Amino acid sequence: MKELTVRAYAKINLTLDVLRRRADGYHEVRMLMQRVSLCDDIVLSRQSGDISLRSNVAYLPCDSRNLAVRAAERFFDAAALGGEGVAIDLVKRIPVAAGLAGGSADAAAVLTGLNTLYGAPLSEERLMELGAALGADVPFCIAGGTMLAEGIGERLTRLPALPRTNVVLCKPPVSLSTAYVYSKIRCSRIRRRPDTAGALDALRAGDLAGVCRRMYNVMEDVAVQEHRAISDIKSAMLAAGADGAVMSGSGPTVAGLFSNRNAAEACACALSNTYRDVFCVETM
Ligand code: ATP
Repeated sequence: MKELTVRAYAKINLTLDVLRRRADGYHEVRMLMQRVSLCDDIVLSRQSGDISLRSNVAYLPCDSRNLAVRAAERFFDAAALGGEGVAIDLVKRIPVAAGLAGGSADAAAVLTGLNTLYGAPLSEERLMELGAALGADVPFCIAGGTMLAEGIGERLTRLPALPRTNVVLCKPPVSLSTAYVYSKIRCSRIRRRPDTAGALDALRAGDLAGVCRRMYNVMEDVAVQEHRAISDIKSAMLAAGADGAVMSGSGPTVAGLFSNRNAAEACACALSNTYRDVFCVETM
């Protein structure tokens, strides 16, 4: 095989709780993560010698600062394929720096795609190790589905899949760095936390409405103080019939879950009058 096309799927957080700040500065989290059908497309073409990348987003770096390139470098090192290279053609649809793990998704898709292209020299476990070294969300992006993530996000437990449902994603045109949001969080002063245990029980019972009722992200308080648009979007989704709505990751994208497809499409249509990055997708 010379060439392979792979999809890199985004994730949303159904819940996100920050438990404590560790001595090394990282934060311990507990979150329910869900793959959604919004994706980047990646074509991997074998070539000898070097790793190159081109993408449809002009401002994204094309060198080792791009997680897709870094993933390819790590793959060739780990698989001892020193003379090999790859041309990576990346079509991005997942908004960048949006809380949807777009870069991590690309890295995960490159790792698994190259492993397929080269006849599976690395085990899934090894791919997960390489992924964890690239970023805390990469192992989830390799595994997909519905997961409980603990530790700094890298410790994963597979959960029963969330019943398939419609998801409206809306990213307001503001930026929120993950480091900034974490710097503003004081774990001892968090007033409201998600009911993760209740959400887990609901998931195990296949109770979609029960999960939706418990969706919450402790980073929302900080994010909303910076950007009112986040709470405006959340309110608009709930008013349009969402079963639940929550900010994903460190934001600013808000995800609304709708059991009714028509309501999801109408909500996406209304939001797109105000916001450019609006998607109507599904859980996977
Ligand atoms: P997370 O939800 O994991 O915190 P995010 O969705 O907030 O991630 P990304 O879209 O992954 O953020 O982008 C974060 C940063 O990573 C950006 O500043 C971008 O320049 C850099 N980056 C490197 N490679 C990529 C890539 N392939 N796609 C998107 N961003 C990338």
